[in-house]
Amino acid sequence: MDIHEYQAKQLLAKFGVNIPPGEVVYQTHEAENIVSWLNEEKIVVKAQVHAGGRGKAGGVKVCTNNDEVVQTVDKMIGMKIVTPQTSEAGKIVRRVYLEKGYDIKNELYICITVDRETGGNTIMYSKKGGVNIEEVSEKNPEEIFKMKIAPGADLLTHHARTIVYNLGLTGLPAKKAQKNILSIYKAFVSLDAAMIEVNPFAVTKDDDIVILDCKASFDDNALYRQRGVAEMKDEHEYDSLELEAARHDLNYVKLDGNIGLMVNGAGLSMATMDIIKFYGGDAANFMDVAGAATPDRVAAAFKLIYRDPDVKGILINIFGGMMRCNDIATGLVNASKEVGLDKPLVVRLEGTNVDMGMDILNNSGFPIKPVDTMEQAAKDVVAMVKESS
Ligand code: ADP
Ligand code: MG
Repeated sequence: MDIHEYQAKQLLAKFGVNIPPGEVVYQTHEAENIVSWLNEEKIVVKAQVHAGGRGKAGGVKVCTNNDEVVQTVDKMIGMKIVTPQTSEAGKIVRRVYLEKGYDIKNELYICITVDRETGGNTIMYSKKGGVNIEEVSEKNPEEIFKMKIAPGADLLTHHARTIVYNLGLTGLPAKKAQKNILSIYKAFVSLDAAMIEVNPFAVTKDDDIVILDCKASFDDNALYRQRGVAEMKDEHEYDSLELEAARHDLNYVKLDGNIGLMVNGAGLSMATMDIIKFYGGDAANFMDVAGAATPDRVAAAFKLIYRDPDVKGILINIFGGMMRCNDIATGLVNASKEVGLDKPLVVRLEGTNVDMGMDILNNSGFPIKPVDTMEQAAKDVVAMVKESS
């Protein structure tokens, strides 16, 4: 799960990380009060969307008087922001963050992630932080340092000192940076984060260290014990079908193709996507009806896929095992009645009572095509979708 910049800053502040004073607003009229409360010479107005690259896309603006702040807030709320990290459609700005503006001497980069190779954490950091970090990592990867922390080990003072030294810091900023890095790491571990990226980790003109931007994402499997983080979820940032799928405990990811898939098991889902590709089609989604494919869950998953306007045909590939195929078939027919099925639907079922299941589908009165093998199912659905378009 991802959160907004201002939320990440709120979390880090609790661990003693130095963040600028600031406040989030949802509507323009709220800005006036915040501006007088902040009472700063410069205020930065920042669009809150789950994507980096906002600065270059007009989502970060330094303002030097109150009127300018209010006007900028008014312009940003409702604005569409498109960055290399959003889709082409972009994201609508619904929240704006106002924070103290600093005179910056140096923008550094620090990112902590879980390292899949070692099972520990890796800290990436660079002197060349700021809005061009992607370019640095592409053209000058040697400018980005990596420190691997062994699984279960902690980040110790001497680690932080090495980082600060490699970042070229000395004196007071070095001391402050060291303390901030240790605090960010503590937050990362304590909050079950998957990634915390601070860019810029800024050195100010008066030698202070302050976190000016922060992106954080968290391990979904740990959210049950991170209520404070879980409550920060902004549902506007998610695809509505993905939210609905999460409510039914379905593993669903929207993709670019036009063949809707419903499969049980992640491995079978992958194999089904592969075989569709092999026969010249493209999946509109990944869908694993994980766990028990009960008639209710099958119906919920089916309706969800059906509602996607990009879906021109559906393939259901369920390996029932002990599950009764007649129950699954009944769930499908009921769901077809609800949606008034008029898209091609190919069903491959395997398991207990498979013949009964096939009979139910054959006699449903809907254009449902039951098939025996996965290969046939893929061939048929690709052909039917091509024909129908
Ligand atoms: P993004 O990474 O999405 O472009 P940032 O929050 O990093 O957004 O802002 C972009 C740039 O704007 C920063 O690299 C920094 O130079 C400047 N900036 C951001 N916040 C402040 C601030 N509070 N004071 C001064 N400059 C800022
Ligand atoms: Mg940034």
